[in-house]
Amino acid sequence: MSTLALAFDLGGTELRGALVERGGEVVARVSEATLAGAGSDAVIGQIIALADKLLKAHLQARVVGIGMCAPGPLDPEAGIVIGPPTLAGWHNVPLIDILSRQFGLPVRLENDANAAALGEWRFGAGRGTESMVFVTVSTGIGGGVIGDGRIYHGRRGLAAEIGHMTITGEGDRCFCGNIGCFEAVASGTALGRRATRLTIAGDGSLLRRLSNDGDVSARHVVEAARAGDATARALVDAEARWLGIGFTNLLHLYSPEVIVMGGGLSNGFDLLAPGIRAAIDERAMAAYRGVPIVPAELGDRAGLVGAASLILREGEPGTALAMVQNEDTRAGGPTGAREAGHG
Ligand SMILES: [Zn+2]
Repeated sequence: MSTLALAFDLGGTELRGALVERGGEVVARVSEATLAGAGSDAVIGQIIALADKLLKAHLQARVVGIGMCAPGPLDPEAGIVIGPPTLAGWHNVPLIDILSRQFGLPVRLENDANAAALGEWRFGAGRGTESMVFVTVSTGIGGGVIGDGRIYHGRRGLAAEIGHMTITGEGDRCFCGNIGCFEAVASGTALGRRATRLTIAGDGSLLRRLSNDGDVSARHVVEAARAGDATARALVDAEARWLGIGFTNLLHLYSPEVIVMGGGLSNGFDLLAPGIRAAIDERAMAAYRGVPIVPAELGDRAGLVGAASLILREGEPGTALAMVQNEDTRAGGPTGAREAGHG
């Protein structure tokens, strides 16, 4: 049997686990609701139980390590989950140490947006590029930047907080406290909120009929726009324009070969794409205009296969990064070996 990695995608609502092959194929998958309010010990217990379940069901599997992704903020080098807002009771949890001791395997950790970016880059819509920006547009907006063949981490691994770049001076306040964040004006949540404000319960509009006269969501807007509803079409056009403005910033900042859009709103990508393109053509400097904007390919497994790739493409069997200093200075270390099979 081929070499496999155990992968975990720890989210605030769902904990997913998988066995992943070197080529990004998911061999087996498990998931359960995250005990998000129960503290780190309980959730780590869930991870260990799911890992045991996967390993027992695949006794012949040659598992070489564990790739993990979790919500930020986290320190990927030290392997520490610092304190995600969606997980109660997690304060500086040394997750790599804990799991590598438990399983005797190398463990690597990355934040969920970066892991999804790695997944799309290595196995999905960004395959074969050296530079790519991944943007996930759903409840919020997040992302990851691949630059010159590697993920861009920045100071303390905090780079690529795409949702919190300021793109306007007005509008609703973002949960981060600022006005005008990309996320506050262009996320699926923001789109749903605009649709809700434009309509009234009981007004007979398609948007309200789809939402059973409750709050309208981005999914309802996409559905109504597909059915030709004029209000929904106008909302989609405005949404596409905001996305295009944000993507123009990303083109100017990172000059990627491609921008990959994932998240729930990418279900409406075909409707949004012309408006996104028009906003970019209007705003981007000429040299940046032709860059493809494409939908993500891996759906909700991007984070899992990206996390697995930390082991399968970069991993150092027999070591855990948290215990090894100066990992990257070793001859032929992860940077040298990293993309041997890529492209
Ligand atoms: Zn913000």
